[in-house]
Amino acid sequence: MTVLSYVSDQADSAWSTYLAQVERVLPYLGDLTRWADTLRHPKRALIVDIPLEMDDGTVRHFEGYRVQHNLSRGPGKGGVRFHPQVTLEEVMALSAWMTIKCAALNLPFGGAKGGVRVDPRELSIKELERLTRRYTSEIGSIIGPQQDIPAPDVGTNAQVMAWMMDTYSMNVGATTTGVVTGKPVHLGGSLGRVKATGRGVFITGVAAAQRIGLEVKQSRIAIQGLGNVGSISAELFYQAGAQIVAIQDHSGTLYREDGIDIPALLAWQREHGSIAGFTQAQAIRHQDFWLKTFDILIPAALEGQITEDRARSLTCRLVLEGANGPTLPGADDILRNRQITVVPDVICNAGGVTVSYFEWVQDFSSFFWSESEINQRLDTIMQEALDSVWLKADSLKVTLRTAAYAVACERILMARKDRGLYP
Ligand code: NAD
Repeated sequence: MTVLSYVSDQADSAWSTYLAQVERVLPYLGDLTRWADTLRHPKRALIVDIPLEMDDGTVRHFEGYRVQHNLSRGPGKGGVRFHPQVTLEEVMALSAWMTIKCAALNLPFGGAKGGVRVDPRELSIKELERLTRRYTSEIGSIIGPQQDIPAPDVGTNAQVMAWMMDTYSMNVGATTTGVVTGKPVHLGGSLGRVKATGRGVFITGVAAAQRIGLEVKQSRIAIQGLGNVGSISAELFYQAGAQIVAIQDHSGTLYREDGIDIPALLAWQREHGSIAGFTQAQAIRHQDFWLKTFDILIPAALEGQITEDRARSLTCRLVLEGANGPTLPGADDILRNRQITVVPDVICNAGGVTVSYFEWVQDFSSFFWSESEINQRLDTIMQEALDSVWLKADSLKVTLRTAAYAVACERILMARKDRGLYP
């Protein structure tokens, strides 16, 4: 195995987590193992400098990235993250997880991801627009509807996608809606896209709970992160009768023994920007979130949150990975030994990229589907993906994560093998 010169050897980095996950699937790949090194090498990694004129006349520079991890099965697909701690290595890991996710769901895409090392909350709306446009221009040579299609992730949203689409379109001289997904619906976006990731967490969560004999209606749930993914998951599980007993975001942690009133909390969050100060639940210490008693845990914030220590003390029976890479490899082993089922990110949070795929198809054909049609297709694809991964896990006697990697890596490496090497 070759080691990339531009990555650190930090054991708990997202890239190291991804590499450890790949290691675990190798024994199940048969002859395709010959091609497996391709999984450890991002195809293309672009670092860009984004000079930005601030509203006060000063100029600041921000670092941006776009990584295309693997394009064997189709154009790159993956979000853009605006966050002050984004690094090239993190974006590499996120792009690799997109490769696995798209293949696990059998979507005709490779994996990519982008990021800018910035706290978007510190920028004015005009500064954010200028930053987005310059970043889009800088990565413009490698994105496109047939090359690589960005989408929203942490810190970006439909408005950012609209600016990206407009900037790319201005640069190529034609309105090109298919260059990004997650756009506003009136600009070629898809109905159902905003809620798709949370809906996917719910669909796979209900199916997984059923398989392990857990009644969603009677269940107690803890959610970390109340952004796009966490809030929709919370809403759907709440509507299904579950009690959301603990919620954590960047501003604090809330707990209520008999369940938090989710509509009231979401209204509070809309008004105040975070969950801090909500009085209809008890504010508890950050670390106590992990020690509470609940049946289902939904990490829906950032990666690396389920450490070995936390895995040892968790009381739940099911983890639904709304976030990308929330569980460290050592913690995965502990959860497995403790018979806590983990629906891995590459299946659990794939609802977003699945509806992004629908959006891309709709943009090409300029024919748009109804929301119920989209939700129905999403439900079918996610149920089928979970079924095939569960079957694989049972037959190989491995975790759902390793089974998802087995299904995905077979598809990726088969494509690699059949395409051959050029020259
Ligand atoms: P978001 O920016 O809308 O929300 C992020 C949430 O995490 C916020 O509530 C924030 O307060 C919280 N958070 C941030 N730092 C935290 C910390 N240290 N402790 C606790 N909470 C913290 O982002 P999102 O789009 O909901 O994405 C969340 C996760 O889901 C990410 O891992 C992302 O990659 C993944 N994901 C998102 C999508 C999507 O369609 N949005 C799709 C697939 C995966």
